[in-house]
Amino acid sequence: MFTVHTPVSELKGVGVERAKKLSKLGIHTLYDLLLYFPRAYEKRGDVRRLADAPTDDEPVSLLLTVATEVSSARIRTGMTVSKFRAFDESGSVEITFFNAPFVKQVFHTGAHFRFFGKLTKHRGRLSMIAPKYEPWLQDTPLDDFVPVYPLTDGLSSKIIGGLVKIAVDALAQDLTDPLPETLRRELSLPTLSYAIRNIHTPIDEGSLSQAMRRLAFDELFFFALGIAQVTKQKRTECAVTVKKTSVAPFLALLPYELTDDQKKAVNDIYLDMTKTDAGGNTPPMTRILAGDVGSGKTVCAALAMYIVARSSLQSALMVPTEILARQHYEDLAPMFSSLGYRVALLLGDTKEKERRLILEQTQAGEIDILIGTHALLSDRLQFKALGLIITDEQHRFGVRQRAVLKEKASSAHMLVMSATPIPRSLALAMYGDLDVSRIQQMPKGRMRVETYTVGESYRTRVLAFIEKQVAEGGQCYIVCPSIEQGESEQPLYVPDGFSGNEITYTNGQDLKSAVEYTADLQKKLPNLRIACMHGRMKSAERDRIMQDFAHGDIDVLVSTTVIEVGVNVPNATLMLVENADRFGLSQLHQLRGRVGRGSKRSYCILISDATSDKAKERLSIMRTTYDGYAIAERDLRMRGPGDFFSFADEDAIRQSGGFTFRFAALSKDNALLEQAFGAARRIVDADPTLSEPHNRLLKEHTLSLLHKTSTIS
Ligand code: ADP
Ligand code: MG
Repeated sequence: MFTVHTPVSELKGVGVERAKKLSKLGIHTLYDLLLYFPRAYEKRGDVRRLADAPTDDEPVSLLLTVATEVSSARIRTGMTVSKFRAFDESGSVEITFFNAPFVKQVFHTGAHFRFFGKLTKHRGRLSMIAPKYEPWLQDTPLDDFVPVYPLTDGLSSKIIGGLVKIAVDALAQDLTDPLPETLRRELSLPTLSYAIRNIHTPIDEGSLSQAMRRLAFDELFFFALGIAQVTKQKRTECAVTVKKTSVAPFLALLPYELTDDQKKAVNDIYLDMTKTDAGGNTPPMTRILAGDVGSGKTVCAALAMYIVARSSLQSALMVPTEILARQHYEDLAPMFSSLGYRVALLLGDTKEKERRLILEQTQAGEIDILIGTHALLSDRLQFKALGLIITDEQHRFGVRQRAVLKEKASSAHMLVMSATPIPRSLALAMYGDLDVSRIQQMPKGRMRVETYTVGESYRTRVLAFIEKQVAEGGQCYIVCPSIEQGESEQPLYVPDGFSGNEITYTNGQDLKSAVEYTADLQKKLPNLRIACMHGRMKSAERDRIMQDFAHGDIDVLVSTTVIEVGVNVPNATLMLVENADRFGLSQLHQLRGRVGRGSKRSYCILISDATSDKAKERLSIMRTTYDGYAIAERDLRMRGPGDFFSFADEDAIRQSGGFTFRFAALSKDNALLEQAFGAARRIVDADPTLSEPHNRLLKEHTLSLLHKTSTIS
């Protein structure tokens, strides 16, 4: 008898080696197999007639009768070529297999098969090479959708599919559903059993999309419950009181005047932290500082920290990447130290000796401002008198991290900076209620980044343009979509909800690999200093390259989207995006925001040969709209809330552990977000600790996800 806890090694065909490979994929038990979802489907049920089947890159499904016996021949290279003909009522086709002499025993005249593969036409003759095939017998129906699983070395999709099928057949029917039936009915969600069965072997498109909707709902709903569980501890009613002070000394150090919106934001923060209620207490600030990329949020944060430092209180500034942390440190440390305050930088790779010193000094109150990554969440870090915690793009941090942060900040003020408009329901789930300051105007004199979309035919001109920018003293970013590891399979059916995040699930074939791209570009532009940076590099190496670029030692930086978040290199004047149609609009806007930060005229060139109307419409939005909020809102409408859950930063994905957003990230269904978070909120409001008997399953499931969440170093 199999149960969800049965180890995969007990399945027939799973020996030590295979079990090891499966465990690399995170598959240990049958339950893990159930949750190992396909990455696409072969729509084999969509059978065509030979006469009108397309002969382009799309694979087609054909029901054919074998017309001849297989003839095999050895060719010069030592390869065997096996050929036979097959037909349907509309025509015939030649089918070829290489180095597969056994097919002689498979295909016999008069037998029926369903073939799936690419059909080509040459001089009016149809042929197919090495198609997939299944015997087509009258009384055993074939599956319409055949799932395609992500592979690892030595484990084909077929092998994994076979194992998944065993698990589904044995277990899917009796899965315990953690969602209460009332909730399921209210929101018309299918059972977990149904969802699991149909995500693997959907009967039709309708059942597939129902399955996807249910799985997306679960991801969001349990995420919200998870946050509620780890942040049970309410923030104190009163926070540290910050004394009234003048910010003039800090302003005097800035080479520019604050915009009105910046002044307003700083004033909001100032009032929050200095106001006292009737009892003389200051309620803790929970404020989000929302403003487009480049709108100047950092300086507002700096002023907030200055105000706090004037009361002999400490501040922590936490950002999602080391590059960004270092950059903030380099910008802020000189200013603060000229005013007599001490700033320190704490990163994941800070050397132990230095780390110990920073920890000591922070605890002793000798450091006023601590800047860092999630290293700031370490248990070892204790502040003497923490007054303010600021996080940049906090939605990128994981559930646990948020909880730790909240605990540390229990009596501190909290400021969150974000360039992404967060849907209200998500903000509520993540932060509870918060106040908003918005920076809508850009700093004076900021020039609009001129944006163009061009096709492949402009390649030569684009190269010349890069040279021109560099010759004029500028620098250039080139961004290529990141690549799924070398799967060059035929294009497959990727259902709509799977393709929302185009970058993750496409099969790298025609994408420009950043590494090859760089080598190629260097050949074409031999006089330029070109460097490449990608997500699989060590973060220290990435930092070093970024540093070199910032210091002007690199002319052209080719990268995957690892540069996306917040870096500031004012001398960069050109942002070139390859396969631009593969990016989300908000992402493109973020990328565009990397240039135009200095005084030079800057450009964004989006390269795309996409022909679909939707792709064209999206790129034209980039040409005509410069307001990040407007863009994000249109993106939200066109693509759903995906961006909030598809973290560009691998660390963030790792740290969100049990909470992954495979389906939610790709769902275009905004209503689902509201429903999931709304439902979670109702349940938590009624039973904050989920201790009532009818919430037992919910609690168990949430905790099991939470325990998968990796702990913070
Ligand atoms: P973001 O809001 O994306 O974090 P930053 O804080 O990095 O933006 O600011 C972008 C750039 O704008 C920085 O180089 C900063 O020095 C500059 N800047 C900020 N405020 C002003 C201002 N009021 N006038 C001119 N430049 C400013
Ligand atoms: Mg920023």
